[in-house]
Amino acid sequence: MTTITLQILNSASIAEATQILDGVYEHSPWIGEKALVQRPFRSLAHLKYCLIQVLEAAGIDAQKGLIRAHPELAGKAMLSQTLTAESTNEQSKAGLTQCTPEELTQIAALNAEYQAKFGFPFILAVRGARGMGLSKSVILQTFERRLNNHPQFELQECLRQIHRIAEIRLNDKFGVAPTLGNDVWDWQEKLSTHTDAGYAELGQLTVTYLTYAHRACAQRISHWMHDCGFDEVSIDAVGNVVGRYHANNLSINSIAKTLLTGSHYDTVRNGGKYDGRLGIFVPMACVRELKRQNKRLPFHIEVVGFAEEEGQRYKATFLGSGALIGQFDPTWLNQQDADGITMQQAMQHAGLCADDIPKIKRQADDYLGFVEVHIEQGPVLNELNIPLGIVTSINGSVRYTCEVVGTACHAGTTPMNRRADAATAVAELVLFAEQRAAQDGDSVATVGQLLVPNGSTNVVPGRCQFTLDMRAPTNAQRDAMVNDILTQFKAICERRQVRYTLEETMRAAAAPSAPAWQQRWERAVESLGLPLHRMPSGAGHDAMKLHELMPQAMLFVRGENSGISHNPLESSTNDDMQLSVEAFSALLDNLAKEF
Ligand SMILES: [Zn+2]
Repeated sequence: MTTITLQILNSASIAEATQILDGVYEHSPWIGEKALVQRPFRSLAHLKYCLIQVLEAAGIDAQKGLIRAHPELAGKAMLSQTLTAESTNEQSKAGLTQCTPEELTQIAALNAEYQAKFGFPFILAVRGARGMGLSKSVILQTFERRLNNHPQFELQECLRQIHRIAEIRLNDKFGVAPTLGNDVWDWQEKLSTHTDAGYAELGQLTVTYLTYAHRACAQRISHWMHDCGFDEVSIDAVGNVVGRYHANNLSINSIAKTLLTGSHYDTVRNGGKYDGRLGIFVPMACVRELKRQNKRLPFHIEVVGFAEEEGQRYKATFLGSGALIGQFDPTWLNQQDADGITMQQAMQHAGLCADDIPKIKRQADDYLGFVEVHIEQGPVLNELNIPLGIVTSINGSVRYTCEVVGTACHAGTTPMNRRADAATAVAELVLFAEQRAAQDGDSVATVGQLLVPNGSTNVVPGRCQFTLDMRAPTNAQRDAMVNDILTQFKAICERRQVRYTLEETMRAAAAPSAPAWQQRWERAVESLGLPLHRMPSGAGHDAMKLHELMPQAMLFVRGENSGISHNPLESSTNDDMQLSVEAFSALLDNLAKEF
């Protein structure tokens, strides 16, 4: 059997090419056939995207038809051995062909319930995010969780799973394995075995500043950096793991500058395995490839695993990246954790010397810029079926804590036109904020806390406390939205004859990507044959801190499960990680050509 290559596919007749793609989409060769008008395919990723586009354009009936062309999980077709070869392979890799009678009964009940609710079979790419096969328990948990979804969402989720199945089948067909993505995936899996006491017992991932698990993570990362061929690896005064890969000799003699990259290795409580860590391991894989090829670039590469970003053990968010720009606040050292251990004590215990912190401040002149790879932590790329996103800006944000004071009175005796209801005033504002943020397209406004203190069923609310969180890609856009929302707030309160108080609790400037660096990411992503999707980052990242010292730009990587993050369901595939390594390598190559 000859190996199939893109070149063969690109030059084959329509009939031959359709035959080559047969089996990628279950019983649906028309998808491959229609995608062929997009030839020549520039990469396997490009082909995958073209196939997705065909299905998107085909309309809802064709989409439902495709879903219904799939067998039930461990269903009749598997038991009667009438599955396609591809499905048999997938279901057996996930152990579904070796179910106990009890498991088969459980799955049959779930299949029936799912069919009755949605009208199509449950689809799950059972080979999973790493392509090795999910465990039966994960499959069953996923099945049960997805039964709660809205039918429209579930239809789209089934299609996403089908595209993931197709991606893996294409890899098999073309004899391609995302080996770099697999390594990045595996590093994250191994790192996640270190978790703080109290969470390890629950099977939860929690790594907070300078705990045993945290220090174990730093050790692991530093050892892997050594193995990958970094020239210098150290743990600095705040616990950042710093690996440097030197420039070529010629450049060193002319005082080479450094490209800075990295992300954080601490986590939130019961967090995910990829938040932060992906941005350490992707460049680490790139450096290993450079070392393997014995290749040096005209600039140094510095990869930093930031010790602290999430502000969990101590209220010192962005401690790791902040220290690099000289923003370590010495008063933090006196902060105590929940057990009364001060940060100073924790640092001493870890062998870190607080006096050395000012020495790790970087000088802008030494650096070319900062780039950061990060899992998106949102639903956008997942919904668009696009693996990588170009970050245009890290949103500026402002937060308020507010209270409306009206008059508490009897819910039965007070006529509607004689009330000063604090909660309805806030309700009106919540709806206005939703509408006003949506008007911008890329602004967001959230009332995350909403409370009627000491409220009762039969009392008109006299007080209502709430928070406002508003973010936008530029400070001007944010301020215009904030102004509109606060003006409306004042007007609502006047009209409803209630009072209000407002306290600003946080304000962070937007960090727009440096245009030249954003373009470097765009060129890199384009070179992979992927579509460009530009988007703001709604969440804060270490790049926000480095932004104050040097130009920066970020690359987002799609998350599964609607991009859920700060949650154990956070997930990303080996194929997407492979693409992020390839994009990072392309950025390095292109940057080297600029010298
Ligand atoms: Zn993060």
